[in-house]
Amino acid sequence: MGIKTVEIPEGYFGEGYQLTSFEKILGIAKSNSIWPLPFATSCCGIEFMATMGTNYDLARFGMERLSFSPRQADLLMVMGTIAKKMGPILKQVYTQMAEPKWVIAVGACASSGGIFDTYSVLQGIDKVIPVDVYVPGCPPRPEQIIDGVMRIQDLVKNEPSRRRNSPEYQHLLEKYQIG
Ligand code: SF4
Repeated sequence: MGIKTVEIPEGYFGEGYQLTSFEKILGIAKSNSIWPLPFATSCCGIEFMATMGTNYDLARFGMERLSFSPRQADLLMVMGTIAKKMGPILKQVYTQMAEPKWVIAVGACASSGGIFDTYSVLQGIDKVIPVDVYVPGCPPRPEQIIDGVMRIQDLVKNEPSRRRNSPEYQHLLEKYQIG
C-alpha cells in the first residue's frame, strides 16, 4: 500500500500564492482526521482488525486514533450482526456522538441482516439510525472497508458546513425519532 497524500484544494494559483475557500480547507482537514468508533459485534469486526493492521494501515487516513467513547468520535463503523435487542443501544451510541457525524454499515449483516433473515436480527441498521455508506460483502475484504472509508472522506470533504442545520437534515433525524 502506498502513502496517502492530501490533495491540493481547488482555487486560483499564482507564483508563490494560492487562493481557495475556508470551507474547502476545512473539508480537507476534517476528511483526513476522522476518529472512528468501531461497533463490532461479530466476524466483520475481525476484518476491521486486519484493516487497522500494518498491511492495510488505516492510519494512513489519519484514523489511527480509534474512539471507544461516542462523545469523541465522528464516524460510527457498525460491523457485524445486530440483534434487535441491540438496536436501542446502537441508537443511543449514535445519539451520544456530537455533530457532524457519519455512519458506515460494514458488511451484509449491518447493511441488511445478511444471511440472518430471522425474528431476532435487525434487517439493516438503517432501521434505527441513518447510514451514509454501505459496504457490501460477507465478510468485506479490508480493501472494501477502505473503499467505504474513502467514500465517507468524499462526503466529509464536500459537505457544506450548514448542512447539519438544514431542514432536510432535521427531517431525516425526525424520521428516526432522534431529537
Ligand atoms: S456479513 Fe458475514 S462476515 Fe460480516 S458479520 Fe455478517 S456473517 Fe459475519
